[in-house]
Amino acid sequence: MSALPPLPFESPTTPDDLEVMREQLGRDMRGVVSIARRCGCGRPAVVRTAPRLEDGTPFPTSLYLTLPWLTLDISRIEATGTMADLTRRLETDDELAGGYRRAHERYLARREELGDAAEVRHVSAGGMPTRVKCLHALAGQALAEGEGINPVADEVLATIDGVLPELVCRCESVDATPDAASDATGEEA
Ligand SMILES: [Zn+2]
Repeated sequence: MSALPPLPFESPTTPDDLEVMREQLGRDMRGVVSIARRCGCGRPAVVRTAPRLEDGTPFPTSLYLTLPWLTLDISRIEATGTMADLTRRLETDDELAGGYRRAHERYLARREELGDAAEVRHVSAGGMPTRVKCLHALAGQALAEGEGINPVADEVLATIDGVLPELVCRCESVDATPDAASDATGEEA
């Protein structure tokens, strides 16, 4: 049905991944299908989720950023007004706008690989295709699909050290709980 190439970094979810995501998010991640991208240390960075949760709720954000240090960095960028600037550029930069629209279509096609949720069939994430409303959601797609798919997210991620092309681990820079640190980093010590 789909002509998309496979997600380049996708890997199966392990029980440890579910536990790490619980620590990353402070709650259970629902609708988990696979890990779409991992931090350099191996922890989940972007989780791929089903278009519909177990209880039937549509869940359009199917490439969901969970990595705390990167989430924090992106929140700092959002706080600077970058999203309004990028949205304005989409109105005048045809090349950027075209790439962003293709990223929107890619998002929908990728999600459809996992099934249909009619209520959100035309809804992607992050404000696509014409606005920039959530850099976390856009980054989730860019990290999962690799560079060259979402030009807006690629541009933002390029401003963060050690993210492109590889996701160099900075998990130790965020304050992990003692439990999380001993459970998740013991093998690296
Ligand atoms: Zn890491």
